[in-house]
Amino acid sequence: MSKNISFMGVLFSLVLFLFIGLYFGQKSILPLGPDAYASCSVSMDQVLDSGKGDVYNFTGVTNFEEPAFYYLASYDVEENTITDPILKTVPKDLQDEQHDTVLQQESWSIFTTLIPVQNRQMVSQFNVFTDGYSNTLAAVDQTENDLSQWMLEVDVADLEDKDALIYTMVHEYAHLLTLNSSQVTPDADTYKDPLNPELQKEKAAACSTYFVGTGCTHPDSYMNAFYNRFWADISDEWQQVDALQYGAEDLVPYYNGLYAFYLKHKDRFVDDYAVTHPAEDIAESFTYFVFNPKPVGNSIRDQKLAFFYEYPELVQLREDILSGACSMK
Ligand SMILES: [Zn+2]
Repeated sequence: MSKNISFMGVLFSLVLFLFIGLYFGQKSILPLGPDAYASCSVSMDQVLDSGKGDVYNFTGVTNFEEPAFYYLASYDVEENTITDPILKTVPKDLQDEQHDTVLQQESWSIFTTLIPVQNRQMVSQFNVFTDGYSNTLAAVDQTENDLSQWMLEVDVADLEDKDALIYTMVHEYAHLLTLNSSQVTPDADTYKDPLNPELQKEKAAACSTYFVGTGCTHPDSYMNAFYNRFWADISDEWQQVDALQYGAEDLVPYYNGLYAFYLKHKDRFVDDYAVTHPAEDIAESFTYFVFNPKPVGNSIRDQKLAFFYEYPELVQLREDILSGACSMK
């Protein structure tokens, strides 16, 4: 899995999002509507707040270095259970964490508590990694030998920050929900060569619906509907910004471009990370849908949250996630 702050890296992890968001603490609090949406709604506000940050606002940032990243263990997933860990080679100072199976089980159980088993059948592997406290909290990626199966990856160093981890797990789950093979036909070529804009264009031209990067979306998929409704009119403008990352030594112009795009279209997005890619927008919007009351306004941002209420199975899933999150508070 790419750990660069680049298309696939940003698509499936929350590198910058969490690093800059938490490190610089640039958070704001949105007023919540009057309707109580769960018995522990106050706690849910904390979860929502933990994920916010001006991730592409580089004002005052002088250097950004990615921390060292190590895989500790890789498990097979069987429904609710993780088994047969394969231990990776790690530096001596990480060997305690590597053998701490209680901690690893605990991080897995946060995910299983949030997401009902019938909604996570695409997850066949669970990886434990660390890049130190904060930075990347969790990520998802397709498994190499079967692109219809996915791995969930969690940093065990971030268990103490439960709110942020819950937020991130729901965001990562939203990728599984919107990109799994019942929604998107996986594309082996772009999996092997994810940072090739020409290949992306070629694949998009051959796809009659929205091509999301990992594959052609199904006509009735969440992603295709979301894209057609909320992205079709700004896609050309966004693509000019997106193109700044390919082959670039210095990604700051790309991040600045994303931030400027966000400021221009602020009423459309739940936060600035959402402008990274339509797949990130639907994941962030889904996370806000889960932890916010039903919107009452008519901005495009509110329409994005209301979008998920059109699907009864997602309304049910929201209830399940909230009750799982509440049970951990
Ligand atoms: Zn993401």
